[in-house]
Amino acid sequence: MKNITVIGAGTMGNGIAHVFAQKGFSVNLADVSKDALAKAIAIIEKNLDRMIAKQKATGDEKRSTLANIITFTSVSEGVKNADLVVEAATENEAVKLNIFREMDKSAPPHAILASNTSSISITKIAAVTARPEKVIGMHFMNPVPVMKLVEVIRGYATSADTALAVITLSKALDKIPTEVNDYPGFISNRILMPMINEAAYSLFEGVAGVEAIDTVMRLGMAHPMGPLQLADFIGLDVCLSILRVLHEGFGNPKYAPCPLLVNMVAAGHLGVKSGEGFYSYRADSRTPVPSARFRT
Ligand code: NAD
Repeated sequence: MKNITVIGAGTMGNGIAHVFAQKGFSVNLADVSKDALAKAIAIIEKNLDRMIAKQKATGDEKRSTLANIITFTSVSEGVKNADLVVEAATENEAVKLNIFREMDKSAPPHAILASNTSSISITKIAAVTARPEKVIGMHFMNPVPVMKLVEVIRGYATSADTALAVITLSKALDKIPTEVNDYPGFISNRILMPMINEAAYSLFEGVAGVEAIDTVMRLGMAHPMGPLQLADFIGLDVCLSILRVLHEGFGNPKYAPCPLLVNMVAAGHLGVKSGEGFYSYRADSRTPVPSARFRT
């Protein structure tokens, strides 16, 4: 595999494009938004500078990584020469089904079509294409250049060859692939999202404040980041979409999203990417303070 297309240049898309390009793959990065593409390239550049400062990359590596990425505003143009596509567009079933229909028409017949979805059924996505055996979940973790795990999800019709190709490719990126079956939220978000939702309920019900909740989980459970800060980092809209998939997919009220989370997303308070969530993010998202809404 040489040519990789990444669809969606948001939080995940820029990280996925970064790691493939740094390993020498030719990357087409496609997004409907020109702004998102420009922002993605700026973030990749900033992350490479950070790696250079920590002596984890060289100036030459930065130049070659950036040179390996071409941007597109059209999905069908972006996938024309792809050996593998990783779709990392908005976590919305209708959006993803449309993208997969379009990619199936325009990508070469041998291309594997992977989705970075956090929760949406790979089987359902595969079913709108004429190549369900070549459709698979390739679920990277955030931030992609740092996190080792890739959750590999075989849909009902995904072939063993497709799974093997994605596992081999993940290892070539120095990631650790782990196979799971196709049920709502897979493993990562089936376990993570109920915890984040419970943290939001704890705040909503006044059990404790933002910092207290996160401190208990960081210092008490040795989590590197508290659940509310992690939710901000993931994107509250993404968390809400995943909880809705879990709620609907299992038909179990225990996954019902906390009303506070629903309100925050409706208000456009999406976390790091909008500058405001459970915490407020100024220039530096690494030292956030609780949002004024939650300061006591
Ligand atoms: P995001 O909101 O940061 O970015 C989504 C991007 O998709 C936007 O730039 C948007 O313009 C683009 N987009 C929307 N419709 C499109 C279309 N039709 N064609 C091309 N581009 C389109 O979202 P994100 O957080 O990067 O999430 C992307 C995917 O990765 C989702 O499926 C999400 O569940 C998954 N994911 C997210 C995280 C996380 O921590 N945020 C972690 C793992 C997986």
